[in-house]
Amino acid sequence: MVALRSQREIDLLRTANQTVAKVLTTLADRIKPGVKIIDLDREAESMIREAGGIPSFLGYHGFPASTCISVDEVVIHGIPDDRVLQENEICSIDVGVNYKGYYGDAALSIPCGEVDSERKRLMRVTERSLSAGIDAARAGNRIHDISAAIEKVILADNLGIVRDFVGHGVGSEMHEEPQIPNYVTSSKGPRLKAGMVIALEPMVNLGVEEVDVLEDGWTAATADRKPSAHFEHSIVIQPEGPPEILSKSPNANWRWGEKEGAILRGEHLS
Ligand code: MG
Repeated sequence: MVALRSQREIDLLRTANQTVAKVLTTLADRIKPGVKIIDLDREAESMIREAGGIPSFLGYHGFPASTCISVDEVVIHGIPDDRVLQENEICSIDVGVNYKGYYGDAALSIPCGEVDSERKRLMRVTERSLSAGIDAARAGNRIHDISAAIEKVILADNLGIVRDFVGHGVGSEMHEEPQIPNYVTSSKGPRLKAGMVIALEPMVNLGVEEVDVLEDGWTAATADRKPSAHFEHSIVIQPEGPPEILSKSPNANWRWGEKEGAILRGEHLS
């Protein structure tokens, strides 16, 4: 069964997700060549705690950091360490917050300095696929409709859709039912109802769709070591029309997953 959340629960989920969004927009502005990714993680942790939250990734199945920072060939679950960001890399940041027992979860990819046209295309298409998935997340549709909307955008550009990781329900646990693949499967999945809270998170590779999990047991890198991008929002299904984006960016100048906001925010990508 997929949980239907009360107004009170949705308010708590919104608060958790708004902390996530604030952290992500702050870190996005820090990304430039020469930055150590562990420093981004430390800033995220202190922002989350100042907001009265708990970094939900920290200690999750033993994960050693507050954020996942996945650079270029790393798809997701990168462990922030002494790696220094270089020009022409994609830096993907995933943040999770537990606020009073309710979870926020969102992610975005940001270009480091000038990135080449293929990386721009990858990021643009991944962000656009998230937008398409959000638009399909309406009461009466099924999970299948979200998967199909995301897949269509990615396949039109001949990019690799990661299959080993999928979107998910989120609420009083970090990962709940249902699973939301970024590709069509034989299952139609449950029907969407008002009050369902789900995290959509397409992960897209410039090359092959296969990923390797590295020796640390976490880092998922593309099998061909070509770059990857990742955008995620947590949303709540409405009785009618498109969902509310709980992790909507508080920065009115750019909102990822809306009109390619993450792509257009950098003048080097205009
Ligand atoms: Mg997630």
